[in-house]
Amino acid sequence: MFSNPPEITKNWGTPVWPIPSFRYKSGWPENGSCDIAIIGAGFTGLACALHVLGSSPGSRVIVLESGSMGNGASMRSGGIVLEHTAGGPHPGFENCIDYFEDFMNNQGINCGFKRTGCFEVARTGGEPSSPISWNDSGILRVTKRLQGGIVDPAQLLHGLANAAQSKKAEIRTNVTVARVDLKEDHVVVSGMQKSLNASAVIIATNSMSLNLSGIEGTLTPCMTLALATGRINRADAGRAGWEEKTPFYTTDFPYLWGREGINEGAVFGSGLVFEGEAEFISDRYVQELFQAIESRIKSMHPAFSGIQVTHRWAGPIAITPDMKPVIKVIEDRKIVYAGGYSGHGVAQSIKAGGLVQKLIGA
Ligand SMILES: Cc1cc2nc3c(=O)[nH]c(=O)nc-3n(C[C@H](O)[C@H](O)[C@H](O)COP(=O)(O)OP(=O)(O)OC[C@H]3O[C@@H](n4cnc5c(N)ncnc54)[C@H](O)[C@@H]3O)c2cc1C
Repeated sequence: MFSNPPEITKNWGTPVWPIPSFRYKSGWPENGSCDIAIIGAGFTGLACALHVLGSSPGSRVIVLESGSMGNGASMRSGGIVLEHTAGGPHPGFENCIDYFEDFMNNQGINCGFKRTGCFEVARTGGEPSSPISWNDSGILRVTKRLQGGIVDPAQLLHGLANAAQSKKAEIRTNVTVARVDLKEDHVVVSGMQKSLNASAVIIATNSMSLNLSGIEGTLTPCMTLALATGRINRADAGRAGWEEKTPFYTTDFPYLWGREGINEGAVFGSGLVFEGEAEFISDRYVQELFQAIESRIKSMHPAFSGIQVTHRWAGPIAITPDMKPVIKVIEDRKIVYAGGYSGHGVAQSIKAGGLVQKLIGA
C-alpha cells in the first residue's frame, strides 16, 4: 500500500542527557506475526505499547525501531513537560501534565519528573515585576506563569521501553520498515528482506517515513536545535533573574526555550531547519545557526557572557498547520498514525498512546 525509502538514521549530534545502559534486541523478530506492530520506538510508539498492553495484557506487541533507541526526537528533546498542545487546548489532550505524572507513577517509571512551573516570555506585554529581563531582539520578560515541569528525556525514553519490555512487548532496534500493506484480514509490515503480519499497525514515526502512512503533505518535517551549557552557578543564574532555571519558552520570534540542564548547567533551544536547507548538524548552515544561538544567549545578560557550550544537537519535529497533533485513522482499527506535535510532544505523546489504543480497539 505505502512504501518509503529506508535510510533515515542521521547524524544529529549527541544530546547532553546521560544514556541509561539498557540493551535491546536488534533485527527482525523470528516469528513473523503479532497482534499489534508499532513502527517507531519514541515516546509515542512506547506509550502506545504500554496502553495496549494495559488494556489487553497477553497480546503480542512488537515495536520496530529503525535506529538504536533514541534515534528520533524523544531522547533529543528538551524534556519540558507542558499542558495542552502547541496549538492550544485540543480535544483528547486535556490535563496532559496530570495524566503524564499519573502514568509514570502507575508504570513505576522514574524519569526525574519535577513540577517546576513554566514561564511564557515575550518582548511585549511582560510583567512589570518579571524576574527575567533579557536582551534578545527586544527585552524578554515573563508574560505568564503556567503549569509545567521537566524530565530527563533519556530516562523517560528508556523507562518507557523498560516498562514495555517488562509487560512482554518486544522491542527490535535496527529494523527499518519500508512498506505497510493492507491485506483482507491483516496488515503486512515489511523491510528490505523480512516482514511481519499484524492484526493492526501503529505508525509512530514522527516526521519521518511519512510515506508509510500516506500522510505526507499533512505535516511539515523539519529539524530543530538545542545546546547544553556547563555550570551556571546559582549566583550567576540569580543575577540573571533565573535562580531556579525555571523552564521557559518565547511566544514571539525569534523563538527560544530553556531549562536547567545537567550538573547545574542549562539547556537552550531554538531554530527550525527545513528540508533542503540542511540535514546534519555538521552542515555549514546548521553550524552557523548554532553559533547564532550561542551568541544570542551569551549577550542576553552579562551573567551568561562566560557560558561554555558543552553539547550541540538537533532532532526532527513535524509541524502541522494548526500546531495540533495528528491522530489519523488510515484504515479503521487496522492502521493509525500518531504524531505531529509541533515541538510540544513530551506529555502529549503519552496522551496520544491512550487515544490510539482506543482507536485500534486493542
Ligand atoms: C531538539 C528538540 C527539543 C524538544 N523539546 C521539547 C520539549 O522541551 N517539550 C516538548 O513537549 N517537546 C519537545 N520536543 C518535541 C518532542 O521531543 C517530540 O514531540 C516527541 O519526542 C515525539 O515523539 P515521537 O515518538 O512521536 O517521535 P520520535 O521520538 O522521533 O520517534 C519516532 C521514531 O520512529 C523511528 N522511525 C522512523 N521511521 C521508521 C521506519 N521506517 N521504521 C522503523 N522506525 C522508524 C525513528 O527512528 C524514531 O526513533 C523537542 C524536539 C526536539 C527535536
